[in-house]
Amino acid sequence: MNILVINCGSSSLKYQLIDSGTEEVLAKGLCERIGIDKSVLTHTPAGRDKVKIETPMPNHTVAVRLVIDALTDAGHGVVKSLGEISAVGHRVVHGGEKFASSVVIDDAVLKAIEECNDLAPLHNPANLIGINSCREIMPNVPMVAVFDTAFHQTMPEKAYLYGLPYEYYEKYKVRRYGFHGTSHDYVSARAAEILGKTRDALKIIVCHLGNGGSVSAVDHGKCVDTSMGLTPLEGIIMGTRSGSIDPAICDFICQKEGLTPAEMNSVLNKKSGVLGMSKVSSDFRDIEAAADDGNRLARVTLDAFYYSVAKYIGAYAAAMNGVDAIAFTAGVGENNIAGRAEIAKYLGYLGTEIDAERNNVRGEDRVISTDASRVALLCVPTNEELAIARQTVALVK
Ligand code: AMP
Repeated sequence: MNILVINCGSSSLKYQLIDSGTEEVLAKGLCERIGIDKSVLTHTPAGRDKVKIETPMPNHTVAVRLVIDALTDAGHGVVKSLGEISAVGHRVVHGGEKFASSVVIDDAVLKAIEECNDLAPLHNPANLIGINSCREIMPNVPMVAVFDTAFHQTMPEKAYLYGLPYEYYEKYKVRRYGFHGTSHDYVSARAAEILGKTRDALKIIVCHLGNGGSVSAVDHGKCVDTSMGLTPLEGIIMGTRSGSIDPAICDFICQKEGLTPAEMNSVLNKKSGVLGMSKVSSDFRDIEAAADDGNRLARVTLDAFYYSVAKYIGAYAAAMNGVDAIAFTAGVGENNIAGRAEIAKYLGYLGTEIDAERNNVRGEDRVISTDASRVALLCVPTNEELAIARQTVALVK
């Protein structure tokens, strides 16, 4: 079966066409600047050169039509017709408390997703537009929604409730939801597989360290805690997001700088994290280069980032009363060799021992701890698109 995986943003649409039998990516691409001028589709058929198609995309329906045209094109296409696309898997950011797993999309599901818009106003409406556009163009193709929040729905109340008046939970569903769930699910399962064990027998901590980052505790296959909260702003220090801070800072800075709450929110999301701290960049490679050049602030920023990850690992080892494996994934987790080694320096008390030779790896599945290490450390590349394709197949077969 060929599964089209769609990740739709407010002005962008990422896609991959995956053959679920071989799990090969047949083609992937990105539509940018949808609804703005200078829209462009970049389409990459596997093993062939990228094609750039610059053409107006006034809305997402036009973008989806162009994606289908690119996939079925006589020159750079990878299938003969729409009929060769068996199902579509859509990434949906927020499923609230309504969805604890992926679902086949119907009108009732669409309504339920819409009811979660309040919780992810920047993402869910865009995800819905993507779904509706695909349904318009492929009315007979089954579609599945895969939620970023679903894997974390197994968290117990003690982990998801905040120390706030309970009525905010009752009235507005203010609680911890967690994000990157598809990645935490995929990576924890893969880590168990690499160790030759079943996930149901292990306590695993997954560190998804990318531009956005989150850590989760997966106890015998179930998520019991995660660092992101009501929104993806909470938790570890990120590329441009602050992660957890004293909430009183917001009012303090609003008064000092004359900011509105919305402006403060934007600072916390877009100008904070390692970008704001280092004054260099949100990209860890730039910050590392600056630190190596003697930039003190860049060095402190990296130290603070590794420290924030190590503290969550400590918290989750305590939450699960132990840990068998710690997996590093996403851009930084998969590629930053020095960073993994720095984080591992905090974990000696758990009986972990990183192996410098094994840790010398980027973007590959590998155990990076010594044979004597009491806790296995792993590098596990995430693959959210493949996870979405697998879940889609499981539901439409
Ligand atoms: P992601 O959001 O998962 O795509 O991760 C993006 C981040 O990964 C970028 O901001 C980079 O800082 C980081 N990254 C990618 N490659 C490397 C690398 N070789 N070393 C350090 N960081 C990297």
